[in-house]
Amino acid sequence: MKECIFCKILKGEMKSEEIYETEDVLSFLDINPKAPGHALVIPKEHGEKLTDLDDEIVGKILIATKKIQKMIGKALNPDGFTIGLNEGEIAGQAVPHVHVNIIPRFENDGGSSIHSVVNNPPSEEVSEIATKIRKAK
Ligand code: 5GP
Ligand code: ZN
Repeated sequence: MKECIFCKILKGEMKSEEIYETEDVLSFLDINPKAPGHALVIPKEHGEKLTDLDDEIVGKILIATKKIQKMIGKALNPDGFTIGLNEGEIAGQAVPHVHVNIIPRFENDGGSSIHSVVNNPPSEEVSEIATKIRKAK
C-alpha cells in the first residue's frame, strides 16, 4: 500500500510549512491553498476517519483548531473562517488521514457557505430521520 502523505510529513520525510505542533497534533499550511493561510490540522496517529480516532484525540484536534484559528486571525486578519473536513471519496477526501481544513475567509473572496457543497434534500420527513438516528445511539 502506498504510504500516506501526511504520515510522511509527520515522519519528516516530506517538507511542509508547519505552523503549530503538540504531542498529538500537527498543523501545516495546505500546499494548494484555497485562501491565504489555508491550514490543515492532523492527528499524529494515522486514522482515515474521525470515528477511527479515540475521543481524547478528537478533542485535542478541535482544541488545536481553535488555537490555530486564533493565530491565523492575529496574523492575517480574515473576516471569517470556513472550518471542516472532507470524509470519504464521495465527499472529496483526497488524503486518507483525518485533516481539518481551516480556511480563512475574506470579504469578496468569491466563496460560499459550507451548505453549498451539496443540495440533496431528503424525501422523508426530518422527524422520521431524527427518530432513526436517535435509535442508532
Ligand atoms: P481533502 O482530502 O480534504 O480533499 O484535501 C487534502 C488537502 O491536502 C488538499 O487541500 C491538498 O491541497 C492538501 N495536500 C495534499 N498533499 C499535500 C502535501 O504534500 N503537503 C501539503 N502541505 N498539503 C497537501
Ligand atoms: Zn497517515
